[in-house]
Amino acid sequence: MIVVSANADDDRHETPAWHPERRERLAAVMGAIHSVVDDDCVALGRRPASLDEIARVHTPAYVRALKDLCAVGGGELDPDTIVADGSYVTAVRAAGAGLAAIDALREGAGDAAFVAVRPPGHHAGVTRGMGFCLFNNVAISAAALVERGERVAIIDWDVHHGNGTQEIFWDEPNVLYASIHQSPLFPGTGHVDDMGGVNATGLTINIPFPAGTGGNAILRAFDEVIAPAIDGFEPDWVLVSAGFDAHRDDPLGGFVLSSGDFALLTRRVAAYAPQPGRLALFLEGGYDLNALAACVSTTVATLDDRAWPSEPTTTGVSGVDSIRAIQDERQRSADNGASR
Ligand SMILES: [Zn+2]
Repeated sequence: MIVVSANADDDRHETPAWHPERRERLAAVMGAIHSVVDDDCVALGRRPASLDEIARVHTPAYVRALKDLCAVGGGELDPDTIVADGSYVTAVRAAGAGLAAIDALREGAGDAAFVAVRPPGHHAGVTRGMGFCLFNNVAISAAALVERGERVAIIDWDVHHGNGTQEIFWDEPNVLYASIHQSPLFPGTGHVDDMGGVNATGLTINIPFPAGTGGNAILRAFDEVIAPAIDGFEPDWVLVSAGFDAHRDDPLGGFVLSSGDFALLTRRVAAYAPQPGRLALFLEGGYDLNALAACVSTTVATLDDRAWPSEPTTTGVSGVDSIRAIQDERQRSADNGASR
């Protein structure tokens, strides 16, 4: 049984037509989830995060400034991060969806949760939103757990580095943050030497890879770097910043993962959880709608322990071969398009 916690109903975070982070993403995600686990999921309704819950990770001054900007009709936090009048309430519900998922898991509602929300969160830091992110959804849930005295591992497989999450828990001994990301790429952080503050040295783990990286290297990073770190840390909970912009079709990322690779990654993070019901995946990026839907379907099916048709994994083949396979696939679809 899977817990699905979403803020897709009444999504008021409107972005301009050109913007990759748009409402249609969440519609694609919800369609994918329901096609896979409609008969085996607990769907949670809206639950806003309280100001106190948000203020565990963001300054009240930032929260107020964002609310005020939305109240006057919206504007830009930066050229990429645009808010409308309804963005604040939608962001509060995105943060709340994570908290609701954690509560449901604690009550034994399911083996794992998928938190299907927008806007994404992992670039939002203590004093500001950026990179399409307003509130740091995964961090707000992690902070609620830490407040109860629990230890949290956050695994971030989005193609971008979660600079906001790193900043928030930089010196927090009860949170381990491990990120796989493309470098160089926005936001330019996540250097391998950045390992945490004096109270949490070694609990920030950055594993940057160049564009073109596929499943072999990423699985090795999981098995040889992240898994031993989790063993040593002994988390009570595993939360995942599950972005799907590491898929090869994504317009913003340069990794070459397939949807099948996300089944392998999902199995790994599930194994890191100390027991069933202590795993929650939070939607972050993923900007090609078809790839996003395919990856979410595979991920949710894997969480629910069922087989699902997905693209072959890119593991077990050389990087050159996997890039050639992608080129062949693109050529075939171009040929198909031309013959139609
Ligand atoms: Zn991303």
